[in-house]
Amino acid sequence: MKTIIITGASAGIGEAIARKLANNNYRVVLVARNKEKLAKITDEINEKSPDTAAYYQVDVSDKAEVEAMINQVKNDYGTIYGYINNAGVMLSAEVTQGDIESWDQMIDVNIKGTLYGTSLVIPDMLENKSGHIINISSVSGHEVTKISTVYSATKFAVRAISQGLEKELAKTGVRITNISPGMVDTDLAPDRHKMNRKPLEAEDIANGVLYALNQPSYVNVNELTIRPN
Ligand code: NDP
Repeated sequence: MKTIIITGASAGIGEAIARKLANNNYRVVLVARNKEKLAKITDEINEKSPDTAAYYQVDVSDKAEVEAMINQVKNDYGTIYGYINNAGVMLSAEVTQGDIESWDQMIDVNIKGTLYGTSLVIPDMLENKSGHIINISSVSGHEVTKISTVYSATKFAVRAISQGLEKELAKTGVRITNISPGMVDTDLAPDRHKMNRKPLEAEDIANGVLYALNQPSYVNVNELTIRPN
């Protein structure tokens, strides 16, 4: 059973990814800060598919915590096949609002959080000539609106990291997928019910993750953009 770490798995898209992958023969390691939510989801997954899920309480913007978690997962389960950088925050993002604390948090979680875990799992993946990094960016990583400036900057950065990894990881056997969702029905997107169309479900993004993971090993799905219809 391949082991996959999913950050931001205590809610929303990350939770849906964990449940979806556990249902499809992957061992899932759920990572986030809220221990109660993580424990509840992990228990529910294990009730359905015994010994499939574990969780770690980690702040992805804290490099030491991320490193300790990765070492513990290697110790407990051996090879880490996949690492899904999903943890993210969307806070006050207009430069004209000047909310520097929010910008720092978005930069720390969305950008540094993505880089820390990725850089720590890649050396073993390269040695094994096998592995898969999946980054959850956003359509805000392709387009900027009046209210998304700094959030978009962090999501453009996630996409830049993915595009750089396409080059760095080419011909190594390690795959990289960048997923850019549009509006998804989770707590992150407070305006989701004001849209004049149905937002995506978190499971729709989990389906994209499973699609990328389940391709034959010579197929590298680099970019998926998933928008509400
Ligand atoms: P939610 O707010 O529902 O979930 C966010 C998750 O990230 C939670 O599990 C939260 O857990 C975790 N998280 C936040 N900060 C940290 C941290 N410092 N360390 C570890 N975990 C953290 O949001 P979504 O599920 O909607 O978002 C998931 C990803 O999808 C994000 O990267 C977001 O930018 C992206 N996205 C979302 C869209 C949407 O419309 N919802 C659209 C496009 C992209 P906890 O609080 O327990 O730490």
